[in-house]
Amino acid sequence: MTEIIIRPFTAASFDQYLAESKLMASRCEDCGELTLPPRAICPKCHSEKMTWTETSGKGKLAGFTVISIAPTFMIEQGYGRNNPYVSGIVELDEGVKVSAHINGLDATQPAEIKVGTPLAVDFVTFGEGDNAKTYLAFKAV
Ligand SMILES: [Zn+2]
Repeated sequence: MTEIIIRPFTAASFDQYLAESKLMASRCEDCGELTLPPRAICPKCHSEKMTWTETSGKGKLAGFTVISIAPTFMIEQGYGRNNPYVSGIVELDEGVKVSAHINGLDATQPAEIKVGTPLAVDFVTFGEGDNAKTYLAFKAV
């Protein structure tokens, strides 16, 4: 018999899936609404019958901003005034939107960045060993 472990619909579970290179959303069994980040309760019909669903990780850039005044965490990764980065809203092929760091676009040339650019999920890990943490990002394809 296969034991099926259903992870709780929390940020910790979502991060754990990211570390396994899976972009997981929650799907409502009652109305079919897909939610990302996942939620334990459907935001549309308030059902609690949610299931984990792996997304394709493919989508397109729906909107973006270039950040040069970075939060501390991003400054620690080398970003900032002299090395801006792109933060975007990605519309996945499944129709759900999520905000994430976008790699592979030239943040110093924002006028060249096009809404609609095809993107694929990119799992970015910072730190090592027990301190390693995987973050959701996307990259231009
Ligand atoms: Zn629902």
